[in-house]
Amino acid sequence: MSAQTKTFQTEVSQLLDLVIHSLYSNKEIFLRELISNASDAIDRARFAAVSDSGIEEPAGGWKIKLIPDAEAKTLTIVDNGIGMNAEDLEANIGTIANSGTKAFLKELAAAEAADRPELIGQFGVGFYASFMVADQVELVTRKAGEDQAWKWTSSGDGTYEVEEAEREAFGTSITLHLKQEEGDEDAETEDFTQEYKLRQIVKQYSDYIAFPVVMDVTRKEKDEEASEEGEDPVYRDVTEEETLNSMKAIWTRNKSEVEEEEYNQFYKGAFHDYEDPQEVIHWRAEGTTEFTGMLFLPSKAPFDLFYNEEAKGLHLYVKRVFIMNDCKELLPSYLRFVRGVVDSSDLNLNVSREILQNNPLVRRIGKNVTSKVLSTLKTMQSKQPEEYAKFWAEFGRVLKEGMHVDFANKDKISHLLRFESSKTEAGETVNLKDYLDRMQPEQKEIYYLTGESREVVENSPLLEAFRKKDLEVLFLTDTIDEWVIPALTEYEEKPLKAIHRGQVDLDSEEEKQEKEEKRKEDEDLYKPVLEALKASLGDKIKDVRLSDRLTDSASVLVADDSGIDANMERMMKAMGQVAPEVKRTLELNPEHAVMAKMKAMVEAEGSLDEYGELLYDQALLTEGSPLQNPALFAQRVSNLMAGV
Ligand code: ADP
Repeated sequence: MSAQTKTFQTEVSQLLDLVIHSLYSNKEIFLRELISNASDAIDRARFAAVSDSGIEEPAGGWKIKLIPDAEAKTLTIVDNGIGMNAEDLEANIGTIANSGTKAFLKELAAAEAADRPELIGQFGVGFYASFMVADQVELVTRKAGEDQAWKWTSSGDGTYEVEEAEREAFGTSITLHLKQEEGDEDAETEDFTQEYKLRQIVKQYSDYIAFPVVMDVTRKEKDEEASEEGEDPVYRDVTEEETLNSMKAIWTRNKSEVEEEEYNQFYKGAFHDYEDPQEVIHWRAEGTTEFTGMLFLPSKAPFDLFYNEEAKGLHLYVKRVFIMNDCKELLPSYLRFVRGVVDSSDLNLNVSREILQNNPLVRRIGKNVTSKVLSTLKTMQSKQPEEYAKFWAEFGRVLKEGMHVDFANKDKISHLLRFESSKTEAGETVNLKDYLDRMQPEQKEIYYLTGESREVVENSPLLEAFRKKDLEVLFLTDTIDEWVIPALTEYEEKPLKAIHRGQVDLDSEEEKQEKEEKRKEDEDLYKPVLEALKASLGDKIKDVRLSDRLTDSASVLVADDSGIDANMERMMKAMGQVAPEVKRTLELNPEHAVMAKMKAMVEAEGSLDEYGELLYDQALLTEGSPLQNPALFAQRVSNLMAGV
């Protein structure tokens, strides 16, 4: 077969373009990415070898070799891992299948040029990072168990070539033709064929890699035979393969013996992150289930956290032998931002993916991991509130999903929830415990209001009575809150109460008695108004009544105690769902001047003309709902202004 030229999937071209043209300050990470891929490939080959698939460990042992050539200006990275066949090449290198990646690319293309390097870093471009330092990349690979090898070549310009090739044994060799930029100030420091440079990069980024990363190192050694006594010694070149990394799986060491920097480098290398993790959780579980966990809470949410609801999962090892990446069984979906490693001494080395899915041992480890993460977050919230606030801003939305899906841990998760409130500055949050601590002495319920944004809920007329009584109301403005709160009916025996639903009861017995008389009077007084409104609004509403919640505004719409409210309706529509039509109650403020005006109007004319429609539309606007006919509303307001 002659060489075939193929075109990269559009997204890959876009990505390459960004990688090549965005100034990336930290080019040397290309090596970390390639070594990490090589190590994954060896992990898979080794797993195949222990699972008795006919694949055998290579004679010289599993390893990754760096071959720099200063004259040719190339660097070759050779591994004896699983390799790829033609289909694998096409699927893995040349295509981006992941929808989250595609979405990320859109975001990247839209970002300011100056912000791109950081975004790319967060993403971890993997193999494509080669093109940051190379203007041509050749990859020769042979899949374990197959005879045919393949050569893949590209200069990152939109196309690549694939042709048949030869390779003695299975594995992959990637040769980078390093960019030679004339007048490049960094030429000296960025010479990736220099021994010291490669040593330094491997030590810094890939020290923990479990397989030897080797390089031929030539030393001058005194040639004892050729050197004569009394004369200058004669030296000869001795070349030896040297291992550049310590290969220590850091999770097997004691926490007290691991430096923070080692954790950071491991994390960034193994999970392709650009930033240090926010928190490391490293522990040894003993007792019925024995395993070591080393988990990381990232500093920044990955770009696909919301596109991809499946847990990425943890890397699973059994007695230090790698079993699989991204083992989903070890983490519930609402902890999908947690990265890390679990090394079990109880599981069998031969476990297959299918067995893992229904394995009680794995489930037990998963439970233990979940508890550990939740308890770490709890401590973080109380001991390092600022750190926790950062964590919450990144991952709170995902953690909240747990309220809905993890019944057993609901209680623990409820302590971790944070909300903005009528007593916090925008962007600041309280938890339910803080709320309870500063509740009014007679207050029996925890009040909340849902809505599209802080701005909308903050200006809601529904808050008026609460403000007046200095009662704190939680603002639930996250889409997910509508699903979380039903799972949380009470906290520390205090029920949660939506202030936009049903009736609210804010008055003391005394106040109630005082108000009762006034209420009766008002009801008698405004009976004709309420009736006229009911008649004119007809089907749009369920009922019209006088309100206890308003002090300044004229009207507000309230939902029933259960069923769909305005915010849910908005969200369902946004998701393309048909929201069932649910009528709400229009409440009127008996103290508002408009009431007397309407009463006079009903008495004089027997109807309310368009006032009812106006009040109703106003109530819709203040809660952030769209009007059915905005033009008509504008016309009515104009008419009113003109006194028509
Ligand atoms: P990632 O490693 O994040 O999946 P990459 O773009 O780096 O993304 O690699 C894409 C895929 O190509 C890998 O998932 C793997 O299947 C394959 N691959 C890359 N490098 C190697 C290698 N040295 N040996 C075998 N397969 C590889």
